[in-house]
Amino acid sequence: RTTELVALVGRVVENFQIEAEERTIRLFMEAAVPAVYVWVDAHRMTQVFVNLVGNALRYTPAGGEVKVRVEETPQDVRVTVSDTGPGIAAEHLPHIFDRFYRVEEARSRESGGMGLGLAIAKEFVEAHRGRIEVVSRPGQGTSFIVVLPRMDTPAAGGAGS
Ligand code: ATP
Ligand code: MG
Repeated sequence: RTTELVALVGRVVENFQIEAEERTIRLFMEAAVPAVYVWVDAHRMTQVFVNLVGNALRYTPAGGEVKVRVEETPQDVRVTVSDTGPGIAAEHLPHIFDRFYRVEEARSRESGGMGLGLAIAKEFVEAHRGRIEVVSRPGQGTSFIVVLPRMDTPAAGGAGS
């Protein structure tokens, strides 16, 4: 299905706004373009960003910042979710996309999840010929980047929708 990502990501950010305010985290979105089209299921794509933004809010302390940026290159579409949280230590990074894997400090929190969100997100994005990258600096923050192949505007057609 043709899905417009700027609006989709915008809705996710909007739905987390109250939670962000409650936690005194500044949550905002930046779109480098007015609209980008990808070929994915909108509902499942929404779940990917609910997990990424939810993680960013969950693991970022009060006073921090969560930024969601949508941009496109000639080949692909990128959505970056960056936070000013504790970061993820290098030894944990290779495992965070594994099912049920949670970094110890996160595990000990009451506000814990199952450790499934990133595994599901990765499977879904890869099934659409995309990928998820992570860049983290302990003590400074983490960025998750969802990269999806671009498609032309729906009016251009041709994809057989
Ligand atoms: P679930 O998503 O199933 O509710 P979860 O959030 O713990 O649970 P994942 O979303 O798969 O699971 O994330 C796996 C682990 O990666 C987390 O438990 C946490 O340790 C670490 N992690 C994920 N996102 C961040 C982040 N933005 N900052 C710091 N650590 C993170
Ligand atoms: Mg999660």
